[in-house]
Amino acid sequence: MKKRDLPTKTCPVCHRPFSWRKKWAENWHDVKYCSNRCRREKNSPGKNAAAPSPNNSHT
Ligand SMILES: [Zn+2]
Repeated sequence: MKKRDLPTKTCPVCHRPFSWRKKWAENWHDVKYCSNRCRREKNSPGKNAAAPSPNNSHT
């Protein structure tokens, strides 16, 4: 029997399920990633982060 019926989501980055945390109580509906790391990962998907060029030629 489940004592805690915590909601869960699946992280789209690492594809792992994660459950509700107290720190997300305020914004659980807005939480998509299991961690800050994954949240950052989605901003740089698979690409080499070894390109510290702030002046990216991204026109
Ligand atoms: Zn994740």
